[in-house]
Amino acid sequence: MSKKTFTGGCLCGGVRYRASGEVLRFYHCHCGRCRKTNGTGHASNIMLKGDALEWLQGEALLGHYKVPEAERFYNRFCKQCGSPLPRDVPNHGLLIIPAGTLDSDPGIRPEARIFWDSRAEWSCEAGELPTYTEYPE
Ligand SMILES: [Zn+2]
Ligand SMILES: [Zn+2]
Repeated sequence: MSKKTFTGGCLCGGVRYRASGEVLRFYHCHCGRCRKTNGTGHASNIMLKGDALEWLQGEALLGHYKVPEAERFYNRFCKQCGSPLPRDVPNHGLLIIPAGTLDSDPGIRPEARIFWDSRAEWSCEAGELPTYTEYPE
């Protein structure tokens, strides 16, 4: 896929970012950690290959929470309003962008629902998207 640049920000507008890289994946993730992080039935995340994550403003407002037992799962968020924000995956050269924080339509669509077996019973139906127990093979 091609290289893209995304801009976005948090609910209060205090934090603004620009991220760029090659689009690898766009998933709805139904795992328990994503549900807690977002307070919703699933997270909608775009995964980029690239380490070009730039904070245009509000870097001092960034909070960070690493799940103690997780290998690398952590949440990055605005300390003022609580919005999740992009995070890099250490040692993997990946960026994860919470799609709901984008300024505009990224022009790509989710390709699958992952961690489907962890979903809440009341969560969205799969619709036309393929589902995977965890990650696709
Ligand atoms: Zn904010
Ligand atoms: Zn997840």
